[in-house]
Amino acid sequence: EAMAVLRTLDGEWLRRYPDPFAREFCSAVSEALDVPPDWVIVGNGSDDVLNVLIRACAEGHDRAVVYPMPTYVLYRTLAAMQPATVVEIPYLPNFELPIADLVAAQGAVTFIASPNSPSGHSVSLDDLRELARRVMGVLAIDEAYADFAEFSALPLVREFENVIVLRTMSKGYSLAGLRLGFGVANPALLAGLFKVKDSYNIDAIATAVGAAAMRDQAYMKACAEKVKASRAKLSVDLKNLGFAVRDSQANFVLATPPDGEAERLYLGLKERGILVRYFKQAGLSDKLRISVGTNEQNQTLLEALISLLQ
Ligand SMILES: *Cc1c(COP(=O)(O)O)cnc(C)c1O
Repeated sequence: EAMAVLRTLDGEWLRRYPDPFAREFCSAVSEALDVPPDWVIVGNGSDDVLNVLIRACAEGHDRAVVYPMPTYVLYRTLAAMQPATVVEIPYLPNFELPIADLVAAQGAVTFIASPNSPSGHSVSLDDLRELARRVMGVLAIDEAYADFAEFSALPLVREFENVIVLRTMSKGYSLAGLRLGFGVANPALLAGLFKVKDSYNIDAIATAVGAAAMRDQAYMKACAEKVKASRAKLSVDLKNLGFAVRDSQANFVLATPPDGEAERLYLGLKERGILVRYFKQAGLSDKLRISVGTNEQNQTLLEALISLLQ
């Protein structure tokens, strides 16, 4: 449906400025996710919404940007650009959420990626509720991978006036090049974000194409199901090669190779033109984050791993 809109685009309406609120897209989100259209803020990718959040809440050094580690690296980058003070709290063993320490950091904004990258775990709704109740600032739940997960924190935006849930068209909708993401929160919270959003952050093409993709929920869900099936198979196949594989709610798995040889395997795969993610940092240096590919791509990966492990 997105491609059909792109092919039949009327060049005439590119003469005019786009709608600053991308309302056509908001109404598609409203229908798909059952939220009011004026509870949606649209960004040039969800990275744009993250940036707007940090600028609105935490510019300067009085109050911090807070998040558990390891997580999405851009929170740190965007905070450094303001600059804003950052407080990073390590996850507890087995990716338990360090709620007390997150609360004690008194963030102007606290980010929780759920499902998280690179671990792939989802934070429970009970933990998110407790955090929402106790944090003094905004709680931003970054659901970039929600389309591959078993549950979503979206209902929390109606329960808590300080909660915003972020989504993207880049992962589940396969539209990373379009640059379209959005946040869902009550209009009072959004009003503060609209003050610092660029007026025309969403172009007319992204609004129209994104709206078509959002309305085409059946196609997105069918694709996400394929990813989930490949994820399950890839996890089993990796375990059969001796990897420890965390249960994942995202479109990648975090896997620990047999002899902790993550870096050697990463380099060997790279030499063969297979790109996986290796993080040379505490707690991750013995692991690889592997995106779920097509069954054929996964097979190519497995064969390369078998030869590298021999
Ligand atoms: C990919 C990703 C984003 C950014 O998505 P865009 O909409 O492409 O900017 C944000 N958060 C997390 C956790 C991601 O993995």
